[in-house]
Amino acid sequence: MLIHCDYCGSAFDPEKNATCPHCGASWATDAEAERVRQAQEQKARAEQNAASTEEFLKTAEAIRRTVGTVGNATGGFIRFARIIAAIVFILAISVFLILFLRFFFF
Ligand SMILES: [Zn+2]
Repeated sequence: MLIHCDYCGSAFDPEKNATCPHCGASWATDAEAERVRQAQEQKARAEQNAASTEEFLKTAEAIRRTVGTVGNATGGFIRFARIIAAIVFILAISVFLILFLRFFFF
C-alpha cells in the first residue's frame, strides 16, 4: 500500500520506509498512520484466521483418524466375535446331533 508524503507528495510504501525516501520527512500523519495500522491489523487478523482454520482442520483430521482407528478396532472385534459365535453354534449342533444319534441308535 502506497501513501503520499505530506511534504513533497512522492508516493512510497510506509511498511518499508519509516520516513519519506524522497525528502526524509516522517510519513506518519495521524490519519495515515491510523490507516496503515488498521491495514496491518487486518492483515494480522487474516493471518491469524488462516492459522486458526488450519489448526481446526488439523484437529478435525486427528479426530477423524482416531475415530477411524477405533472403528477399525471395533470392526475387527465384531468379526472376531462372529467367528467365535459361528464356532460355538457349530459345536452346539454337533453335540446335539451326537446326543440325538446316541439316544436313538445306541
Ligand atoms: Zn517526502
